[in-house]
Amino acid sequence: MLRISKKADYAVFLLGAIARQGAFPGGAASDSVVSAHEIAKLAGLNKSVVANLLKDFARHGVLESTRGLKGGYRLARPPAQISLGEILEVVEGRFTLVDCIGGHDANEGSSRLLAQARSQQSGRNHDCSLISFCPSKNPMRVVHERGMVHQCSDSARLDELLSTATGLGITIKHFAKNLFLPRKSEKQLGAGGAPPEVSWRNDIETIQYPEEKVQYPERFRGLHRLMMRDDGSVRCVACMCCPTVCPAHCITIIPEQSDDNGIEKRPAVFEIDELRCVVCGLCVEACPCDAIRMDSGTHAKPVEERADAVMTKDKLIAVSKDNGKSPTSIATQGGAGANWRDGR
Ligand code: SF4
Ligand code: SF4
Repeated sequence: MLRISKKADYAVFLLGAIARQGAFPGGAASDSVVSAHEIAKLAGLNKSVVANLLKDFARHGVLESTRGLKGGYRLARPPAQISLGEILEVVEGRFTLVDCIGGHDANEGSSRLLAQARSQQSGRNHDCSLISFCPSKNPMRVVHERGMVHQCSDSARLDELLSTATGLGITIKHFAKNLFLPRKSEKQLGAGGAPPEVSWRNDIETIQYPEEKVQYPERFRGLHRLMMRDDGSVRCVACMCCPTVCPAHCITIIPEQSDDNGIEKRPAVFEIDELRCVVCGLCVEACPCDAIRMDSGTHAKPVEERADAVMTKDKLIAVSKDNGKSPTSIATQGGAGANWRDGR
């Protein structure tokens, strides 16, 4: 199995720490350098390991160093021009599948050695006693000549690695926050952003439904309810405005003659198919007499049969009581008094 060493891992981390400070040509702090001490602190690594790695990278032209009291390091090129392959080559030497192809010290790695290794690929003498008849020699050479091993690492750039690391960091931060910090209280769940005093609590909004219920905002459009007059009759006058505007065609009204002389019609049948409803609220907007509302504070219940999702007139009237809402409206229907239109 191919495995990148811990040292190479640290190297990517170090270069990333310098890049994040913007210390590279064209970066936010292109003229400044980051000291080895600072880099070790940023990366949380041993100072001598960091110093050795930084020197290696400076020697191979990946970093530029400045001596003196305010000395330090900066990337010699923007992160987009530094590949993972180059970083690995500095730390580990040019990667070879078998000794008879590369033939150089794995700890020495450099461009010079790379060139040397490539020139050696065309058949040098090797210590291995099997070299003259080795069946793997040529296939391994083909793999190297086609650059199969290096293509992947050379195409991954430092800036891409940094973006991945940043994303991973955010994920880990949220994971830890949600795993270790306490939950928000039930009241704070779904309240549209935690207030400052509970900002240290986790962000999990999952609730143990149905034991716990989500607190819907005041203007939440939920299950429909039919409103009543003070005398206990339904406010709906079967004007057919709501089924006309309903984009889902889920309202069915069959009107009948009203007993009240001042009101022409009332609904004999009033049904809403909650499975077809798209909760747009247009029916509420269209109603001229505040007969239908969606402020019940609850949502349509899950059902097993499609027919059970059809809310009949009686069910729509009962929604107010079931959810602790007043069934009557303060809106004055048809004005007050026999001559209520006079003077308008
Ligand atoms: S909320 Fe929209 S889709 Fe639902 S019944 Fe009213 S008008 Fe129709
Ligand atoms: S718009 Fe209002 S009054 Fe007219 S049918 Fe619908 S609920 Fe009844």
